[in-house]
Amino acid sequence: MPDMKYILVTGGVISGVGKGVIASSFGTILKSCGIDVTSIKIDPYINIDAGTFSPYEHGEVYVLDDGGEVDLDLGNYERFLDITLHRDNNITTGKIYQQVIERERRGDYLGKTVQVIPHITDAIQEWVQRVAHIPVTPDEAPPRVCIVELGGTIGDIEGMSFVEAFRQFQFRVKRENFCCAHVSLVPMPKSTGEPKTKPTQSSVRELRGLGLSPDLILCRSEKPINHTVKEKISNFCHVGPEQVICIHDLSSVYHVPLLMEAQGVVQYLNERLQLNISMQRGKIMRKWHNLARRVDHLRKEVNIALVGKYTKLEDSYASVTKALQHACIAAGCKLNLTYIEAVNLERQTKIDDPVSYHKAWQNLCKSDGVIVPGGFGQRGMEGKIEACQWCRETQKPMLGICLGLQASVIEFARNVLGLKGANTTEVDPKCEDKLVIDMPEHHPGNLGGTMRLGKRKTYLEPSVITQLYKKDVIEERHRHRYEVNPEYIARLEASGLRFVGKDETKTRMEVAVVDNHPYYVTVQFHPEYLSRPLSPSPPFLGLILASLGKLKSYMSKGCRFSPRNQSDVSSDEEEEEASSISVSSLSLEDEKTVIENGTPVNGVSK
Ligand code: GLN
Repeated sequence: MPDMKYILVTGGVISGVGKGVIASSFGTILKSCGIDVTSIKIDPYINIDAGTFSPYEHGEVYVLDDGGEVDLDLGNYERFLDITLHRDNNITTGKIYQQVIERERRGDYLGKTVQVIPHITDAIQEWVQRVAHIPVTPDEAPPRVCIVELGGTIGDIEGMSFVEAFRQFQFRVKRENFCCAHVSLVPMPKSTGEPKTKPTQSSVRELRGLGLSPDLILCRSEKPINHTVKEKISNFCHVGPEQVICIHDLSSVYHVPLLMEAQGVVQYLNERLQLNISMQRGKIMRKWHNLARRVDHLRKEVNIALVGKYTKLEDSYASVTKALQHACIAAGCKLNLTYIEAVNLERQTKIDDPVSYHKAWQNLCKSDGVIVPGGFGQRGMEGKIEACQWCRETQKPMLGICLGLQASVIEFARNVLGLKGANTTEVDPKCEDKLVIDMPEHHPGNLGGTMRLGKRKTYLEPSVITQLYKKDVIEERHRHRYEVNPEYIARLEASGLRFVGKDETKTRMEVAVVDNHPYYVTVQFHPEYLSRPLSPSPPFLGLILASLGKLKSYMSKGCRFSPRNQSDVSSDEEEEEASSISVSSLSLEDEKTVIENGTPVNGVSK
């Protein structure tokens, strides 16, 4: 078996400059050269995982097939590379220390003093080597390249043991199997408007001081950087000019891998890591060219309102937003997303803050479709229930996810069944009608990893949702503590809220729909996590198409796009190809074949 190749991606100057996207782009580029890629994200915090994080602070908690609650960057990897990662692909300081402390308690260290070097650094290296070899694709192909992204920036105290581990690691796996890419920032202060390379110089010096030399320096900047600056970085940072890659702000993330490839990343990695890539340049990244072009040319807008609770930090709904974008690209329209604070839709806000109240309702009314995403706790729950009622009564397309399903069930019970005291025990444990109740998995004393998590089967009955998925057994990822109370199902169904998706025991409600409505679908699972560039999540696609008034025609054509439907931005030639392709059946594998055959394809999305 050939040696595993590692690309360590570190960050300098400041975080939040798109290191995750750049790291995923390395994978995208190599994958388009036919190389199987996996990835590991290191978060140097002491938490065991992201499960207990507040979305206000960290953005969304991303959920994996195996139920791992991880950093949202793993979502980027899964989406960019169309792979399925495991909980161990996310390393935290907490996980490493937990492992070492458990070994110490077992007596594995034979009475020695247990120290950061070598015990913690060894544990890190072993973990990386073990996880790098785990297959991440359905064909179980062994990965050849592992991208390791180190969270934070070089010099952070928290990251030190990881940096030291990789300093040792480069000798453990040998030079031709390890390289380091350093993502830095080249600011352009308004006063001079000139790009400044000093912060990059300092951070590279710091990296070198810790024993790691950058093989590639990726400079993020607001505007394109000219050749002189590139040469300056090359001179001052002791690398060749071909090792400096400049990435300015771009119209969409889909351009990032293209820009990197255009600056010779494939040739460099091919030589540096001895990858034996023989593919011709023109054939690499064709999918991404089409995708980036398609995204840039979307004109017609669809207005979607997201009624949520963590609307101040957009990352809190990262996967939902991306799933909406995937569906929009497939449907040939541009996403115009408005965040609405659920609390602002509540009657109390009308008294306390009438301006926000009316603005929120105005935004809701102006939208073409509404999404009520997942959430926790009491705040904003009544607002979400209001939004569900309004969508149901005014025939507005709506997709409810997790808490969104629970809100829709409570709304229906209150306003259709007349059970005014209906609620969820999460908000009011003593409510009169407990429509949504605790699941046995719920351990009130322990918040970490105690929900119903990960990929599970749902059995569907004939409905809009079976048509969209084109199958009647689906698998989606879950993250919840509460569920619809089975005691009320018969009454809800008799009045028109149909539960068309259930788990294998038929007691857990997974999908609810209201018939005689353009699109009123709520799901207990989180379909956003499995949405991929080339296969938008079916419930999201349904919402977007219904919001555009195109769902019926899409379904009447057997849930396939006609050339017309995809035509907004495509050339005639591309349309012909699109006519034979169903968006939901496209996968990156298809795309790989298409690329290998050298034929361009359209209709792809991230
Ligand atoms: N708070 C709800 C529950 O625990 C919904 C969770 C969610 O939306 N992810 O069941």
